[in-house]
Amino acid sequence: MRDRRTTAIFSVLLAASLAAVTGPMPAHAEPAAAVVQAEPNQVQGLTVVQADGYATLAWTPVAGTTDYQIERTPVAADNSATGPAVITGVWRPNRQINNESPTFADSGYNPGARFQWRVRARFGTTAQPYSEPVFATTSAPWGDPNVPGENLRTQWETTLAAQYTSDVNEYAYTAALDEASDRVRVTEIGKTVLGRPINMFVLGYPTPPATAAAVAATSPLLINCNVHGNEPGDREACLIMARKLAFSNDARTIDLLSHTTVLIVPTINGDGRAANTRGNSTGQDLNRDYSLIRQPENAAFVAMLRDYHPVASYDGHEFGNSNAGDLPMLPPRHQNVAKSIFDESQHMIEGHMYTQGAKDGWWPCPYGCSGGGAVGLSEETILRNTAGLKNVVNSLLELRSSGGPTRPDEGNTANNRRRKTFSALWTFNQFLDYHRANLNAITTARAEAIKFQVSNTGRIVFRGSRPIEAYPAPHPGEAPPPIDAPSANLILDNAPCAYKLTEEQYNGARTDGPAGLRTTVAERIAAHGWQVVKTADGYVVPLNQPERGLIPLLLDGQGVESLVAGERVYPTLTGKHNGKLVVSGFACLKDATVNGPVRVQPGATLIATGSSFTGPVEASGAAGVFLTNSTVTGPTRITETAGPVVLVDVKADGPVELANNRGGAPLVAANTVTGPLQCSGNTAAPANLEVANAVQGPKSGQCAGL
Ligand SMILES: [Zn+2]
Repeated sequence: MRDRRTTAIFSVLLAASLAAVTGPMPAHAEPAAAVVQAEPNQVQGLTVVQADGYATLAWTPVAGTTDYQIERTPVAADNSATGPAVITGVWRPNRQINNESPTFADSGYNPGARFQWRVRARFGTTAQPYSEPVFATTSAPWGDPNVPGENLRTQWETTLAAQYTSDVNEYAYTAALDEASDRVRVTEIGKTVLGRPINMFVLGYPTPPATAAAVAATSPLLINCNVHGNEPGDREACLIMARKLAFSNDARTIDLLSHTTVLIVPTINGDGRAANTRGNSTGQDLNRDYSLIRQPENAAFVAMLRDYHPVASYDGHEFGNSNAGDLPMLPPRHQNVAKSIFDESQHMIEGHMYTQGAKDGWWPCPYGCSGGGAVGLSEETILRNTAGLKNVVNSLLELRSSGGPTRPDEGNTANNRRRKTFSALWTFNQFLDYHRANLNAITTARAEAIKFQVSNTGRIVFRGSRPIEAYPAPHPGEAPPPIDAPSANLILDNAPCAYKLTEEQYNGARTDGPAGLRTTVAERIAAHGWQVVKTADGYVVPLNQPERGLIPLLLDGQGVESLVAGERVYPTLTGKHNGKLVVSGFACLKDATVNGPVRVQPGATLIATGSSFTGPVEASGAAGVFLTNSTVTGPTRITETAGPVVLVDVKADGPVELANNRGGAPLVAANTVTGPLQCSGNTAAPANLEVANAVQGPKSGQCAGL
């Protein structure tokens, strides 16, 4: 919400300057002969600007207006009418945050057609005189029909929105883009239950980075285009957008793709799309499975998030409330999502989309908008919330299904489909621009979120949302979604240190998920990317990890949709400890102060957060070492660990050495090290989740780039 104040000030200034322009003319000024004398209450100053699939109309407001009607008439090159005039839009004050510069995005027509537009005010239901007309030829579908690559078109485009792009046509179009553009790499991230490939566009300039890790280093952004198979409008926008990104040489496109990588998943639910069903082939709503990942589609997507680390995302849907705005949006609201992620997501929606919507004539609003019912809640199974719990700045996008009273010309199916798809295209383009302009704020929010989560502080909420406050009038929506506060039985004030799973819980066969494709808890935890310590009598999943907000929702029996009822493991040491601390077996330190050296014995596990250590911390041959949100005065030396090593947000006043650790890649992020950071011989090179360490001494070996 950083922009609310500046937007309000801007509106006041704009109103003042408009008053100066539209006020009475000085007595000595004579109107120019060519100027048509305005009728009372006639709309003045109508302009039209063309964009991809929509035309932005703007005009000078008429005092006392209840609403405006937008009229469109097809015309020939000489501007003579070739068909009837139709009211295609109704502008209402709650469409946009500033009413001093009304705009309307007219859409639904076949791109490339030529029109006349007029706008009139209404007082109550009494129509006032129409404005003078404006004429323009609308923008044709992007891409020169004579240039190979650029001339590719989807089935939806070639049939003029009579047909949606089929799976077969999608794969052919996708492969052709991949073949024709160096900027495109199409990666298969998994398969559906019925074996359809789930593809992802990886787009960069001049070429996309070669590996997932290299893509992650560019702070990529992600668009998920079609999870509900019967909501296909966003997917068509994604396919069109991929073509422009692949071939356009305009400065904006080159600039965007030179600074990041764009990830687009056109169809995670290919089986549902082919059958035009909400769920996948088993009937499962895939947007209720991103945490549980029972379905192979969701498992593939979550593993992709783990490997590519998008910092921001949009998730495309359609929504059946015809009274709502054009573009209902919503941030991750689950209360376990870090506040920095919630705030930055809200800023993207209310700060950017509301402002740009008012400029271009689209109407974003909070999901639900007018009378939307109990939608937009806190299920962590929904991608919006899952992604937020994975520290991704993100929003839901709903395309209002029917035209409703504000878009009365959508009885024609193709008109309705085009308006939806081009409103999605507008949103995704704005998303790219937002990411480009606000990358520092986004990555800062992500770094703050990761530091918050690894601190394992604060209560755990199993279900419950942050409130979405009503936006100040004239808010672009009439009602925020329900409060959805957590009930007392879904709050755990005393967070455990870790969850412990038995062999059966961790590796046992499951009955959830499609037969033949079922996965174990171990496999699902691995897809999420969580670190697990194998101990003598089970598996320990510490909470001081970057996805701390999600872990209890799956591993605690109190979770509303949990996987298993893991054993809550509470801290073993808090407060002050004087003298040498020898850890054998298992130790969890929370808000502890250790005055003396720490020695982690072979096979032992150390989990520590919010703690302070005076004296060296040394672990050799441990089962696992998790050290977060803590300070160490003296050297830190972690070697030969069999399992995970996590070192995040540690202030180390002394050298830090990680050597010959044999688990997965040690996580070394957001630390402040006074002294050298030295890493060598680790089986997998340490990673930092793109959150840099501040190291005064030299960074060397495998940590040289961290
Ligand atoms: Zn949906």
